[in-house]
Amino acid sequence: MDMTELAKAVIAGDRRALARAITRVESTRADHRAEAVALVAHARAAGRQALRIGLSGTPGVGKSTFIEAFGMMLVASGLRVAVLAVDPSSARSGGSILGDKTRMDQLSRAPAAFIRPSPSQAQMGGVARRSREAVALCEAAGFDVVLIETVGVGQSETVVAEICDLFILLLAPAGGDELQGVKRGIMEMADMILVNKADGDLKAAAMRTRADYAGALHLLRRRPHDPEGFPKAVCVSAVETTGLAEAWADMQALADWRKQNGHWTTRRAQQARHWFGEEVRQGLLAVLDREPAKGAMAALGAKVAAGDLSPEAAALHMLAALGRQ
Ligand code: GDP
Repeated sequence: MDMTELAKAVIAGDRRALARAITRVESTRADHRAEAVALVAHARAAGRQALRIGLSGTPGVGKSTFIEAFGMMLVASGLRVAVLAVDPSSARSGGSILGDKTRMDQLSRAPAAFIRPSPSQAQMGGVARRSREAVALCEAAGFDVVLIETVGVGQSETVVAEICDLFILLLAPAGGDELQGVKRGIMEMADMILVNKADGDLKAAAMRTRADYAGALHLLRRRPHDPEGFPKAVCVSAVETTGLAEAWADMQALADWRKQNGHWTTRRAQQARHWFGEEVRQGLLAVLDREPAKGAMAALGAKVAAGDLSPEAAALHMLAALGRQ
């Protein structure tokens, strides 16, 4: 397949080409990698940028319902919306499949929307980091907003936070008055916390939860790239579609502020640097799985197991051997 032609088709807005292009960047075949890199480079040359919004939440908080309602609101306002899923395989058994089109019924049929479910064999550090390239392809295809959905299990948020411009944490109302065990690290990444299900019987609990999190966010160090009032916690109801317009206005205000103050460009530059390092690290790890390193690892491992070499000495041998390659 000619990557220049494929990139052109993506830029021209051909949705099947976009789907094919994403499949190519997700491919684990070594001979596809160079093609994928060329493809993404051609696509990036179009110079288009979208607002990349990361959305994280545990199964059941209402991610699909929210994306359906929020996405339809954006589409109604004339924006083109892409939805991608970063799915740590470990979370799959416990919850819904991310980006499941049947659960985003209207959005999946909207001509201005594109939904890409997570690949079935997703692996952290593997396919997940390819999501960054999928985002670039969606940008090239002319989408204004790219929503990147993930389950809140720790590692996937870090990946998503390194891809997106804004990181949104979706929570459900808490029963008691305790914070719902949200890890501090995740709170620190969040630009906004949306407490969903603020409707009916759950409304009062949602408001209490919002106040708790607003307090917790306030205690966390305010980042220099945040304007006054951010990160903030607000209530929404995906089912009743309340609070969505306000949340969108907040997201835009934050994005505009960062653009005007140079933080937008800085963040993207830092992310690019992060992914460069990550690619090299993953590449080095992949070397260990190939000959001759694989054989050397096995041989040294056997010596360690037999008590002929200490683990530390064997590691030094191995690293020295790698350095000579
Ligand atoms: P996901 O697993 O995070 O994608 O969550 P879903 O979108 O599948 O929603 C899980 C459950 O919460 C479903 O039964 C939804 O109907 C319900 N739900 C989602 N959003 C809301 C909301 O705004 N209010 C109420 N009351 N229920 C909601």
